Amino acid sequence: MQENQQVESDPSIAIIGAGFSGIAAAIQLRKAGFAKLTIYEKGDGPGGVWRDNTYPGAACDIPSSLYSYSFEQRTDWSKKFPGQPEILAYLKSCVEKYELAPHFRPRVEIASATYGESDHEWQLRTVDGETMHHRFVIFACGQLNRPLTPDLPGHRTFHGPAFHSARWNHEVDLRRKRIAVIGNGASAIQFVPLIAGEATELCVFQRSPNWIIRKRDPVVSGSEQARLQRFPVLRIWRRLSTYLVHESRFLLFRKGSPAGWLYGKYLRRHLNRRIQSEELRGDLTPDFQVGCKRILLSGDWFKTLQKDNVRVNPSGAALIDPSSVTGGNGVRFEADVIIFATGFESIDFLAPISIRGRGGQLLSESWQDGAEAHLGITVAGFPNLFLLYGPNTNLGHNSIILMIEAQARYIRQAIEYAQSASLPALEVRPDIMRRSNQTVQKYADKTVWSGACQNWYKNAAGKIVNNWPRSSWRYLWQTRKPRKSDFLRD
Ligand code: NAP
Repeated sequence: MQENQQVESDPSIAIIGAGFSGIAAAIQLRKAGFAKLTIYEKGDGPGGVWRDNTYPGAACDIPSSLYSYSFEQRTDWSKKFPGQPEILAYLKSCVEKYELAPHFRPRVEIASATYGESDHEWQLRTVDGETMHHRFVIFACGQLNRPLTPDLPGHRTFHGPAFHSARWNHEVDLRRKRIAVIGNGASAIQFVPLIAGEATELCVFQRSPNWIIRKRDPVVSGSEQARLQRFPVLRIWRRLSTYLVHESRFLLFRKGSPAGWLYGKYLRRHLNRRIQSEELRGDLTPDFQVGCKRILLSGDWFKTLQKDNVRVNPSGAALIDPSSVTGGNGVRFEADVIIFATGFESIDFLAPISIRGRGGQLLSESWQDGAEAHLGITVAGFPNLFLLYGPNTNLGHNSIILMIEAQARYIRQAIEYAQSASLPALEVRPDIMRRSNQTVQKYADKTVWSGACQNWYKNAAGKIVNNWPRSSWRYLWQTRKPRKSDFLRD
């Protein structure tokens, strides 16, 4: 199947998704001279999660000096952790600067992708029935693009507005309302402090508490921005030092690590100092090792939870009726509005797209025990197909943009290799993929994520499918260049 054949010099490449990863891949490929590039995006513009998540206070919890492309460093970020509008504007400016607009096909949702064994091309079909053919397909759909709304009993009977935080309904006036917030994760912790002040009452339904670190979010002054602009070395140092500080946190993620134990003590002290009521302190104290769930950053969460009009139901939400939400402990909260801050369908990668590879093999079936790919990028049985931010490439401690850039570079080089070697189909060897996943799972077992907490990194069987369990520099090293011997020859 991989016999050398004439391959067209400028192959047609499809990128599905125009978030941080899709844009990174498009820039890499355009820079390398690939012109037949189409970026399909189901939304009406670029931005991915930064287009979708418009809830009050949406911001990144990684400083933007690192949560941005290495090749496109900005000096005018307004704060250390700028908000969603600034990040979205950054992505749009990248699209403009690298002249990607002509490659865009917005409002096109891909329903299926089928590999053609005779022509080595992928046939893409949209939800509207249109079909397109491309030699290479790069899925850049992200891990957090499908909001998860739990189907609680009575959910549909609620009379008032109810929406997910990732699809914020800006039409709903929250002033003087009784608001039930279900979930207390990374999104809730950002918007609850901003809406609590205007609500009559607000109740957070917490299923389990989180470890929380104080967020310091200094404004970047005009003179500092000017200095960064004038002296590139300062920019490089700011990014490098931010990287090193974050990378050192990797030590926390080893099961039973002394650093994790010490950090837990520090965070417990932080919580104890800030929460006056013993009962609330107990409710907010996690019973799992730091890092098992994402460590959250906030400067005003604890203060907000102690406001007179705010309460926490520590037993989660159990039941919804037309006018209230009842917790697992039977305590009822009369509500005018429900906001689900319940995260995303993170485990089912690429769902609901139906992807058929060699021999009609369905990717979702190959992945029924948990998604797997070699380096999170290529999958055996699925030639000429690549993933960005795929299985086991999420980070708990550092910027995901580092991983995405490494993947985009790897994919560009893999396509260049297929071209230079006149390989019509490029496919990772099954034994290579198996071995690399055995290693990933061996290390994943040693991390706190496999411990006794509910997190979005593992599937029902407890297999960690989202996170990369080793240092980020090791991933960068392993993906610096595709190894030719990793791919099938014939
Ligand atoms: P999340 O952190 O996973 O929080 C989801 C919350 O919903 C949790 O409190 C969870 O409880 C609760 N929940 C889920 N299913 C539930 C159910 N059936 N009943 C009751 N409660 C339920 O989700 P998120 O806030 O959307 O954030 C997801 C990820 O997005 C983050 O980890 C982060 O990677 C990213 N994010 C980043 C930022 C940022 O600052 N850059 C901001 C937002 C999101 P349990 O904890 O008990 O599972």
